[in-house]
Amino acid sequence: MFIMDVDKYNSLVKDLKEILGDIWVVEEKAAIERYLCDETAPPVRPPPSTKVVVVKPGSTEEVAKVLKLANKYNVPVYPRGGGTGLVGGAIPTKPGIILSLERLVNICIDVDNMVAEVEAGVTLGKLIEEVEKANLMFPPHPGDEGATIGGLIACNAGGARAVRTGVMRNYVLGIEVVLPNGDILRLGCKTIKNNMGYNLAHLFIGSEGILGVITKAYLRLYPRWNYTATIVLPFNDRVSAFRTAKKILHSGLSPLAIEYFDRKVIEASAKHLGLTWPVSEGDAFLMLILAEALEDVIYLELEYIDKLARSEGSLEPVVAQREDEQKTLLKIRSEIYSALKDKTYDILDTTVPIGLIDDFIKGLINIEKKYDIWLPAYGHVGDGNIHVHVPKHGSSSETLDKVIDEIYDLAIRLGGTITGEHGIGFIRRKYVRKILGDEWINLMKSIKHIVDPNNILNPNKVIPD
Ligand SMILES: Cc1cc2nc3c(=O)[nH]c(=O)nc-3n(C[C@H](O)[C@H](O)[C@H](O)COP(=O)(O)OP(=O)(O)OC[C@H]3O[C@@H](n4cnc5c(N)ncnc54)[C@H](O)[C@@H]3O)c2cc1C
Repeated sequence: MFIMDVDKYNSLVKDLKEILGDIWVVEEKAAIERYLCDETAPPVRPPPSTKVVVVKPGSTEEVAKVLKLANKYNVPVYPRGGGTGLVGGAIPTKPGIILSLERLVNICIDVDNMVAEVEAGVTLGKLIEEVEKANLMFPPHPGDEGATIGGLIACNAGGARAVRTGVMRNYVLGIEVVLPNGDILRLGCKTIKNNMGYNLAHLFIGSEGILGVITKAYLRLYPRWNYTATIVLPFNDRVSAFRTAKKILHSGLSPLAIEYFDRKVIEASAKHLGLTWPVSEGDAFLMLILAEALEDVIYLELEYIDKLARSEGSLEPVVAQREDEQKTLLKIRSEIYSALKDKTYDILDTTVPIGLIDDFIKGLINIEKKYDIWLPAYGHVGDGNIHVHVPKHGSSSETLDKVIDEIYDLAIRLGGTITGEHGIGFIRRKYVRKILGDEWINLMKSIKHIVDPNNILNPNKVIPD
């Protein structure tokens, strides 16, 4: 159905150029190259189709026209944001059109109503910059600021702050979305409360580009937290670290992030950056970020956390209050992914109930022993979202796939899930049936069919065969 012959392709390109103008329809191999991959680890990344044309519409109406045309030609369309996805979601797996939202970059900050009206191609970094200029804040912070608002909403991205701020879904008041048939829907508005029937916007949030192309969003903003501090709590063992994390979560304090990593992992990251991890004691660490409107509150919280952690066996904590010191600690934490990236077969996004993180890590250690493999595990201990890197390790891909299978089974046995934030995309489709039953999958298929009867939008993604 989707195989294009030369005449059909030429005719499609001609029509696309009529809609968008010649320069926004890109066919040159060299210029297309960077649109064929995303940040998915290369060993598991799907091979892209190179029979693609990249289009860069400049308005919602142009997006709609492209989708109408794609339906006419029965050609797949792959929505693309910043290409930072980790599950192959934006990769064109069949010949078709890559629809890049990169020209939709308008931002308007409505200070009075504390809302940002943002087009889909705006990067997270740019949004933060503009919001801060208005002395406001966009609370969630998924790890790569090159991700776009469209991509972040399409993936319902999370990040380290989710323990306090929640995920993208919690900030989207409304979206403009173009359906696969070219219809434009405007869902929601600038109000915080809105109870008009089904909340259809939430169907598109997290749909990973298979139901519609998000072109614009109303995002809820907050007043800035003026004071922040970062505290690293070292422990001799991870069990004490997890017990402390749980106690902090029960204490009524609400840290912006509660991250976990061990010495081997964090030192690998520091080395990668040419830095030294500044905490000499301990093998397992919690890193907490505190953010409050009043400085005194930060001091009180630091004192309280220190006392609580010491009662659970914490060694001497390291506290950073100066911005540069905090940035260094955060940078070392954030670069764990990059430090391990070249040696990674796949990076997992398993999430378990917060009370069972230690059982999850114990299970991981058993898998490490069974396969004689190092499985670096770190991440958002505050919400149970632990990233596990499966290293290439010289093992065959069959063995590594078995390792992944066992890690997923472990997470599921503990009542967790195989993805807390990265999504399903292409590479996790084969695992979906481990969790979702036929009824659920059939309902997803039915919804997809109603919205996209010709299956033109991001086919081969999310829903298993
Ligand atoms: C270093 C690093 C750190 C990361 N940290 C986090 C993290 O903390 N939390 C987290 O959740 N993720 C994280 N990610 C993953 C990634 O940043 C997110 O999945 C992000 O949401 C992808 O956005 P993007 O614009 O890059 O989308 P892309 O990679 O371009 O696309 C991702 C998916 O969204 C679809 N899509 C893109 N734009 C649109 C649109 N306008 N309309 C409809 N569908 C669209 C695509 O078709 C694709 O299926 C990280 C990635 C990296 C490389």
